[in-house]
Order: sequence, then structure tokens, then C-alpha cells
Amino acid sequence: MQVMQDALLLLKRLRDAFSGAKLPRMSEKTLFQKIMDREEPGDILYEDDLCVALRDINPQAPTHVLVVPRKPIPNLDALTEDDEPLVGHLFVVAQRVAADEGLADGYRTVLNNGPDAQQTVAHVHLHLIGGRKMTWPPG
Ligand code: AMP
Repeated sequence: MQVMQDALLLLKRLRDAFSGAKLPRMSEKTLFQKIMDREEPGDILYEDDLCVALRDINPQAPTHVLVVPRKPIPNLDALTEDDEPLVGHLFVVAQRVAADEGLADGYRTVLNNGPDAQQTVAHVHLHLIGGRKMTWPPG
């Protein structure tokens, strides 16, 4: 009986703790998840179990592809040690896409993190940019 009362008390405390709290809706997908799930249009060049490569809608060079993990990690700061192989995989996929795109003279990879870097989509993505001579430093 005491166990039941303790369980009910715990439930009440949990309900009180979360009532009024603004919890994110678990079902809310990022733009890139919607594209991966074919709920939004996207020009997907490559996909595997871990990531998808799609053309950027606002290309900054003749080739501008985003390599996006299926896991919706919001930004670089949210990476954990478990994500290390995944991040390496993004670069290997970028390398393959660059070869497929014929970027023999080089290309740039960019990962914008946070507002100062102008990150606009809160789902980690690696930009692969090429097909023209780049300038340095970036703006
Ligand atoms: P960032 O500013 O680093 O977060 O990069 C987000 C990128 O997503 C920008 O380069 C956008 O042009 C690109 N983007 C936004 N919407 C779409 C879309 N629907 N399909 C493909 N790329 C997109």
C-alpha cells in the first residue's frame, strides 16, 4: 500500500513540475528532417543510414551541397563523444560528393555554429562549396 502511495505522490510531483513548463514538442522535425522524410522538397544527391547530402537552395558557388546527419543534433556544441564517428562520416561523404561533382581543384567545407557564424538551421550540417576560386578570409 505504501508503495502505491509513494508512486502516486511521485506522479503528482512530476505533473506539478511539468505543468506550465514549455516543453519542446517531441514530434517537431527540423527542416532537414522533413526533407529527408520527403515531407518537403529537396534535391538529394546521396543518402545512407547516417546522413543525407542535398543541394543548398541558395547556392554560394557552382557546387553547394549540405551534408546532414540523420540525427538532429542542433549545433556543434551539442555533439558528444558518441558522435565522433558520425562527424568523420560527414567529411568522408563530402569527399565523395566533391569527387562526383568533379571538384578536382579543391573545395571548402564549412560548419556554421551559432548566431555569430550565421547558423540559420538548428540541425548540424556541413557545407560543401566548390566550383570557383574562393577568397580568404571568409566574410
Ligand atoms: P546555415 O546558415 O549554416 O545554418 O545553413 C543553412 C543552409 O540551408 C543555408 O545555406 C540555406 O540556403 C540552406 N537552406 C535553407 N532552406 C533550404 C531548403 N529548403 N533546401 C535546401 N537548402 C536550404
